[in-house]
Amino acid sequence: MKLTLRAGPRVSVDNDRCELYGICQYEAPDIFQLGRDGRLRFRRQLTETDVEPVIAAARCCPMQAVRVKGLADE
Ligand code: SF4
Repeated sequence: MKLTLRAGPRVSVDNDRCELYGICQYEAPDIFQLGRDGRLRFRRQLTETDVEPVIAAARCCPMQAVRVKGLADE
């Protein structure tokens, strides 16, 4: 029997591009948090309800640093 593992949708941030503007946090505060230490933290694994705000965050990121993978229509 062949097993197929399906990872759910997930997000990544390219640290080489990210300039810590924090727009992603504004669009998806449950996922992205810009800390007082100047570091961006985020939850990689997304639930169904996370996808829409995270896509909005990816669209709004001025550095195009946010990537969303594992969507059904990929
Ligand atoms: S919006 Fe883009 S550049 Fe700004 S903190 Fe988020 S990932 Fe970084």
